[in-house]
Amino acid sequence: MTDLLVRGGTVVTAAGSSRADVAVDGGTISAVEPDLGGLTATAREVVDATGLLVLPGAIDVHTHTRVASDAEPDRFFQDSVAAAFGGTTTFLSFNNPGTGASAAGRSLLGGMREWRAATASDSAVDVALSLVITSAQDDPIGEVPDAILSGVPTFKAFMVYDFGVDDATLSRALEVAGRHRGMLEVHCEDRSALEERTARHLAAGETAPRFHASSRPPFVEADATARAIGLARAARAPLYVVHLSCAEALAHVRAARAEGLPVHAETCPHYLTLTDERYDLAPEDAARYVISPPLRGPGQPEALWDGLAAGDLALVATDHVPDRVAVEKRSWRESFDRISNGGPGIETLLGLVYSEGVSRGRIGLERMVELVATTPARLFGLGSKGAIERGRDADLVLFDPAARRTLRAVDLHHTSDYTPYEGRVVEGAVRSTIVRGAFVVRDGAFVGRRGHGRFIERSLDAAG
Ligand SMILES: [Zn+2]
Repeated sequence: MTDLLVRGGTVVTAAGSSRADVAVDGGTISAVEPDLGGLTATAREVVDATGLLVLPGAIDVHTHTRVASDAEPDRFFQDSVAAAFGGTTTFLSFNNPGTGASAAGRSLLGGMREWRAATASDSAVDVALSLVITSAQDDPIGEVPDAILSGVPTFKAFMVYDFGVDDATLSRALEVAGRHRGMLEVHCEDRSALEERTARHLAAGETAPRFHASSRPPFVEADATARAIGLARAARAPLYVVHLSCAEALAHVRAARAEGLPVHAETCPHYLTLTDERYDLAPEDAARYVISPPLRGPGQPEALWDGLAAGDLALVATDHVPDRVAVEKRSWRESFDRISNGGPGIETLLGLVYSEGVSRGRIGLERMVELVATTPARLFGLGSKGAIERGRDADLVLFDPAARRTLRAVDLHHTSDYTPYEGRVVEGAVRSTIVRGAFVVRDGAFVGRRGHGRFIERSLDAAG
């Protein structure tokens, strides 16, 4: 019995686009054929997708969604709703390195269990986890093999921040994760260069948000990227570079890949669409763009688009941080280095990559699908997701390429009180989002259910 038949849309995969019908049975894609009209009479539901693109749901491998708290019991659920509105059917998040002082936070596996318990019945779309290895945990690297066996094969380490790790720890983490079929994600910025430049600014009384950018220029990221690549080469381990923001760092990744090293890098929509002129805004507005690495100068977005088109950059993910201007960002009054780093983006991934990438001719539709769905699924061990083909999860987005809309925070569903893209006109719009055969968003309205989303245990062995 066919539960759902999506008829007459243009089905896009990484390999090509064609008019096709998609049949769904028990949450799984059971057929993709030019004409499945014969199933119309018996299908439980038939959806007309004429004029729409049928895309595999986006997979956002980099978010910092926050688990529910007593004060904000809906915030994880709400960000999962935002993901669905944006066409993201699976997102990855992290254990909170800020809980390092708690008993659970001192253990990698404790942090994993804590996160899973806190989110177990909250999400409207599927979720998975990467574990942050911090300097506050007792023996995180010793716990890496068990975490991988528990379905969490990806880890993240920071070269900066108080919870960041030193190079020796980074090197061991790369080696142990790699040996056990895991992968380490690294936030690459050079701690000493950054601290020295920050101290100089502060000593000169330069405390405004704009100095966030000049405290960490491209070489701070590029030098650290080169060092992380060197450590991965020595450890014979894969490396995943998060939120690459500039041509200088991209050059190191390109060289490593030319050498044949398993080095993968993501970039984010904000680096593809915004530049450092935002730091010239009034301080309270500039604070909204305090993210790390910072927004870069003119020309940098084009270099990143070229990297995406050429295959030097593997994928696009959001680095979504649900900060609010009125709460986490308000410390701009003290000094730039006290401002919470990050910005919201969980709802705008697919829309921005389509509008700025496909619509403007920088990448093709198939490359877009590869960048936001197929490659994230492959690299992060989500073998049942990321493509529209028989046997995969029926995670589908019905996307209207002819629509045009203006992004406004009031229309978005995330838990932040702003969007970095306020007022931006984008081509295309998500009409409906389907997760394992069930509509979560239908014709622009939320019809999903809290707890529909499952935790996905992953294995990089299964990655296709
Ligand atoms: Zn991040």
